[in-house]
Amino acid sequence: MVRKFTKLKVIPLGGLNEIGKNMTAIEYKDEIIVIDCGLSFPEDEMLGIDIVIPDITYLLKNRDKVKGIFLTHGHEDHIGALPYVLKKLNVPVYGTKLTIGLVEVKLKEHKLNNVKLNRVKPKDKIKLNFMEVEFIKTTHSIPDACSIAIHTEIGTIFHTGDFKVDYTPIDEDVMDFHRIAELGKKGVLLMLADSTNVERAGYAMSERTVGSSLDEIFRNAKRRIVVATFASNIHRVQQIINAAYKYNRKVAVSGRSMVNVVNVAKDLGYLTLPEDILIDLNEINDYSHDELVIITTGSQGEPMSALSRMASSEHKKMEIEKGDLVVISATPIPGNEKTVSKVINQLFEKGAEVIYDDLADIHVSGHACQEELKLMHRLVKPKYFMPVHGEYRHLKQHAELAVSLGMPKENIFTVTTGCVVEFDRNSARLGGYVPSGNILVDGLGVGDVGNIVLRDRKHLSEDGLMVVVVTIAKENGKVIAGPDIISRGFVYVRESEDLIEKAKVVVREALTECENKQIREWAYLKNTIKDELKNYLYERTKRNPMILPIIMEV
Ligand SMILES: [Zn+2]
Ligand SMILES: [Zn+2]
Repeated sequence: MVRKFTKLKVIPLGGLNEIGKNMTAIEYKDEIIVIDCGLSFPEDEMLGIDIVIPDITYLLKNRDKVKGIFLTHGHEDHIGALPYVLKKLNVPVYGTKLTIGLVEVKLKEHKLNNVKLNRVKPKDKIKLNFMEVEFIKTTHSIPDACSIAIHTEIGTIFHTGDFKVDYTPIDEDVMDFHRIAELGKKGVLLMLADSTNVERAGYAMSERTVGSSLDEIFRNAKRRIVVATFASNIHRVQQIINAAYKYNRKVAVSGRSMVNVVNVAKDLGYLTLPEDILIDLNEINDYSHDELVIITTGSQGEPMSALSRMASSEHKKMEIEKGDLVVISATPIPGNEKTVSKVINQLFEKGAEVIYDDLADIHVSGHACQEELKLMHRLVKPKYFMPVHGEYRHLKQHAELAVSLGMPKENIFTVTTGCVVEFDRNSARLGGYVPSGNILVDGLGVGDVGNIVLRDRKHLSEDGLMVVVVTIAKENGKVIAGPDIISRGFVYVRESEDLIEKAKVVVREALTECENKQIREWAYLKNTIKDELKNYLYERTKRNPMILPIIMEV
């Protein structure tokens, strides 16, 4: 008799057809493990939304099965949703030292102190009843990044996590090529791999190349140097500090996330700081300009970031001055080009010299390009492949890359978030869908803002609001006060008195009409006011404000 195995299920809950909120559930028998728990930033039409997190309905429904969340690295798109998810599903969290260090800062901000955080090292294996989770060293734009292998009796799943192949990483801690090749040799059932840079030919340059560009810039700089980069790119920060030290400059750190990350990295030993090199931002006036480097957030032109505030004279402690040299050591993430460009313009207007990506080799990507992806596919040589971490076009092209390396098309699963893929030893198939999607976080509200609220916000933001207040008599329905009209974001009332007066006439006539017909229902009255006013306003202004009639009966 053939022994029948339960299916091994892979369920992406985020990170497909989008860059952000990475989360994948892997289920076997009565165990589920979750890889990563990231957030994404709201799209333009998500007005007023702070962040977006994955829908975890499926995990909550199966909460007894969920054995833990395993983190590949400490970027926001992999750990950012943790505080929100842990509030609903308090399971153990596993990650390397730096990753957990960054998680701790986050949990503290959310006053979550009853979470079981487990620090692991690469090569560590966490044994569950039916799965074994192995951390494998990889390289990325943050130290301590890992790939994750999940071993089951059905086969091994290998998740690359975010990675690039850096043969000369700053901390000399290279990717564990040997282990990855070994897994490939033993046989990997499924690989999930980073698709971010699949459109780029060749290789991502080593982080080390940025060091020599920075060195040259620092050598020639005459005055103050401001470098903006991603807070989490600790190796970049290290190289900036190294260059500062070499050219006898002190370093001040600006921006909340930069200060946080530098502190965590310093405490955990991920940053090597020459003695006394760091100074407080309050002390910069004690030094002459050629003795200073300021490392700051804001490389994406975020309006509230330290660099934006320095550029627009809104920063309390420092302002960009003529002659400052500003280095933007990052490329704009797609979608941020406009805001970055705005900041660059402001910096030039202030008289600063600005060096950004188009002008020098001051940034390298943290994600594998085509040749690195090919290396990974060749080393792991999985039976099945699922491209992850990318928009649809990235996933599609990653699938094509796999085909070009000889993988049969039918063994590639280019799926969407929420789609279940089921495996047994010899086959794989799509196995339906679980709830998935965007949960919007606005202030303290998680998931309470949905499509209807967003539609109203959009309407209000585009056409404004008009409130009509009218008081009618209980006994006969006659208007005894009003209509009064209040508007916001529609027209400037003082210059539109005529329009508002005529609008009142329209409302009054509509109500008289109802009165004559002996109609007293509020819903009907309100709709009549809305319709008549809407037509009138559109006729006069070609605008469609939201109209809110308020009827009071006395
Ligand atoms: Zn990453
Ligand atoms: Zn990522």
